[in-house]
Amino acid sequence: MTLVAGVDIGSTTAKCVLLEGDRIVGKSLAPVGVELVKDAERALAQALAEAGRERHEVAVVTGTGYGRFKVAFGRFTVTEIGCHAKGAHFLFPGTRVVLDIGGQDTKAIKVDPRGEVVDFAMNDKCAAGTGRFLDVCAGALGFDVSEIGALAEGARHPVKVTNTCTVFAESEVASYVARGKEPPDILAGLYGGIVGRSLSLLQRVGVEPEVTFTGGVSRNGGMVRTLERRLALPVNVSPLSQYVGAIGAALHGRERTEGISA
Ligand code: ADP
Repeated sequence: MTLVAGVDIGSTTAKCVLLEGDRIVGKSLAPVGVELVKDAERALAQALAEAGRERHEVAVVTGTGYGRFKVAFGRFTVTEIGCHAKGAHFLFPGTRVVLDIGGQDTKAIKVDPRGEVVDFAMNDKCAAGTGRFLDVCAGALGFDVSEIGALAEGARHPVKVTNTCTVFAESEVASYVARGKEPPDILAGLYGGIVGRSLSLLQRVGVEPEVTFTGGVSRNGGMVRTLERRLALPVNVSPLSQYVGAIGAALHGRERTEGISA
């Protein structure tokens, strides 16, 4: 069986997924640098190496993400919105709403029962409430972003983080630390603020079950739990949540070439 590849060049990371039928046989994830064309090539090469497969076995490559036009060897490009919709539906077929929080933007996407986009709302004007915002605030607390997911659970007196600008929020966090506030209380304040901004995007498309959370920020368990509490709904999160855009790209490529000789 031939392979299809999806390459997602985001603002912070490059992801690639290789699909054989409906099985993910290889994947890669790495930070992006300044040469996005090379990042895209590397992403595909690493996914092929993980799968133990060769480039000539890939029938079609589809690019997505803000750097999708840098997937120079790709046959198609598809927006992240279409890819997150399709990828979320692939992992959770009951998905009706997707919340994607990546490095520098947030999107709420309404999908139909086939995983096609019905409506969307996005915030890409500033990094407020995105992964980059959390990376910087985690740094101000002396942690890596991968360590802060569980920390907010012990919060007793969440602070209010009023600044939405990343730079000002970083100094606000530092000033809370200087005043002796505990990391759980600061993180609970941050998560509450980010989820609040995400909820207004979700309300613009309309919230209905099932909600699927995608993008790198969905790997943060504190964000997932805060979102579930505020929505009063369980939220789908896959261990592959950061790959959802790449999965969707691979699926779009496959659909477009079905019946066409690759
Ligand atoms: P993009 O597609 O814009 O490059 P991603 O969807 O890859 O963005 O998300 C990147 C963000 O995901 C990072 O800024 C970080 O906040 C978050 N993230 C990545 N890995 C983890 C992790 N292990 N735990 C918590 N958050 C993470």
